[in-house]
Amino acid sequence: MIDAPKRILVVEDEEPIRRFLRTSLTSRGYQLEEACGGREAYDRLASQQINLVILDLGLPDCDGMQVLAQLRSRAATPVVVLSARGRESEKVAAFEAGADDYLTKPFGVQELAARLHAVLRRSAQSDMAPPPLRYARGELVVDMVARRVLLRDQEVHVTPIEFKLLSLLAKHAGKVLTHRQLLQEVWGAEHADEVNYLRVFMAGLRRKLEVNSAQPRYLLTEQGIGYRLADE
Ligand code: CA
Repeated sequence: MIDAPKRILVVEDEEPIRRFLRTSLTSRGYQLEEACGGREAYDRLASQQINLVILDLGLPDCDGMQVLAQLRSRAATPVVVLSARGRESEKVAAFEAGADDYLTKPFGVQELAARLHAVLRRSAQSDMAPPPLRYARGELVVDMVARRVLLRDQEVHVTPIEFKLLSLLAKHAGKVLTHRQLLQEVWGAEHADEVNYLRVFMAGLRRKLEVNSAQPRYLLTEQGIGYRLADE
């Protein structure tokens, strides 16, 4: 069966970037809608079925972060931020506000296309099903029901905290979870700033699950931002 083309809303005030996205993404089979600012973005979102939003943060009529917050408060439409702001703190803020991915300008169209594809696939999966109860990629299986971790068909002993951390990442496989999000979920809000806890426990998990901890295959670091469990 051939899927209906995905409709992407580009919220971007710079015409050359909109034109570049229009050319490169329509040639890859996407339908494009465009908005030059926040207000126009709201209009498009209210009147059309949109599968994904590409969002610039520096908009003429408002901050893109406001658009992100608005979007998140009422819909699950995935958002990929495309911004000239490359500081870690800004990326962290965007992920915590619910961005699905973040690309810094200038960007390559290949990378953008790969990320859009991954975000859309993940969103199609979450539309159809409740949060996954099992993660299986390569040689790693995390069974959230039986609370077991298998590597190359062998059970791996993990501590309760390691399991909590791993299953949280597995439920959101492919998506970056920030340090703060992980700390709040696993250790509680009062420990939201204890990034050391995470380093220690992630190192422990990598020793158990990765062939080479320095070049992890599953437990990926987003430098200065958080962690992501590979989804392919
Ligand atoms: Ca801009």
